[in-house]
Amino acid sequence: MNPFAYTSPKNTSDAAALAKPNGDFALPVLKSGGMDLLDRMKEGLEQPDLIIDLTRIEDPTLDAIKPDRIGGRATLAMVAESEALRTSAPILGASAGSAATPQIRNVATVAGNLLQETRCWYWRMSQFDCLRKTGDDCPAREGDHRFHVIFQNGPCLMVHPSNLAPALLVLDGEVEVVGGDRSRIAIRDLYPDPAVDWQSTSVLSPSEIITGVRFRSAPNSAFIALKQKQSFDWPMVSGYAALELDGDVITSARTCAGAVAPRPHLLPQVDAALAGVSIDDDRRIRAACELAVDGADPLPGTVYKTTLLPVAIRRAVNAAASLSSPDQGGDA
Ligand SMILES: Cc1cc2nc3c(=O)[nH]c(=O)nc-3n(C[C@H](O)[C@H](O)[C@H](O)COP(=O)(O)OP(=O)(O)OC[C@H]3O[C@@H](n4cnc5c(N)ncnc54)[C@H](O)[C@@H]3O)c2cc1C
Ligand code: SF4
Repeated sequence: MNPFAYTSPKNTSDAAALAKPNGDFALPVLKSGGMDLLDRMKEGLEQPDLIIDLTRIEDPTLDAIKPDRIGGRATLAMVAESEALRTSAPILGASAGSAATPQIRNVATVAGNLLQETRCWYWRMSQFDCLRKTGDDCPAREGDHRFHVIFQNGPCLMVHPSNLAPALLVLDGEVEVVGGDRSRIAIRDLYPDPAVDWQSTSVLSPSEIITGVRFRSAPNSAFIALKQKQSFDWPMVSGYAALELDGDVITSARTCAGAVAPRPHLLPQVDAALAGVSIDDDRRIRAACELAVDGADPLPGTVYKTTLLPVAIRRAVNAAASLSSPDQGGDA
């Protein structure tokens, strides 16, 4: 690791001011839990000259959890265990609780989860160059891309790594930011269009700090991860669903797929097919969820995901429909 300076400001305005590149520090970087940042530094992927530690800021709203808001510094464990969220938006606790290990969830934060870097192994190894770094091709295309996209909507074939981002997208979430000239950014606008910008992690400037996320309530919402191993891993494919019900009938649905595209991937065709369907009508729910792969263009090594995706979406829909579901979805 390269030498770097360290500071722990006491408020977010000082942190944002420090995060602007300047004559003293050309590469300042924000740190929350540090789970992703330190990995990247140890691999030599990043060489910041100043670490701005957000964990000492004295502001309880950064950690607070309410039925419609989570502080950006709340840990994944806090989100997973929140009774308020279990009632208002169970999809959040389920997706946070499925990420990583208990030790990591105790440290990793909501903001850091939304802004973690790709898990593409070519990107993660300093020995490889690629389009997302400074190179002019993507070694994953001809190489080992088994955990990559099935929707090819950009030249980079990475999948978005965050469990929470699709859940917040389903809930029309917004991030609250300080340090720039805007105070809110919708989750749907937080990540760049992969056809236009395949190098940036988000649209945030270096000095913009996520202080919280806001979202609508969705008591009938669920998350399902299909993983290669259950102990700890990013999903091969994940399914997200939030339903509005009138008795046993789905009046409206919002579904999203994770781990299949460079950004969380909404499925409006599934939502349209689910409207008006009874939650007991397994045949129509299956048919609607099969539409999840409409437009898919898998790589040779990701064809298997086109079989998994409708299953993940269907299980998420069924879990969301079941008001008495004891586990709010989760790993399957
Ligand atoms: C073994 C393992 C398994 C994992 N499995 C999963 C999984 O299944 N699903 C999943 O979603 N994740 C998974 N993760 C990733 C983990 O959830 C993230 O690394 C973690 O959430 C990052 O949070 P952090 O607070 O440590 O972020 P940090 O490492 O501190 O920061 C991450 C990035 O966000 C920026 N940043 C941090 N806070 C802010 C802020 N407030 N405002 C602006 N920028 C900020 C930092 O500059 C940095 O670029 C796994 C990680 C490991 C090691
Ligand atoms: S998929 Fe993206 S991050 Fe991975 S090697 Fe290709 S260009 Fe790089």
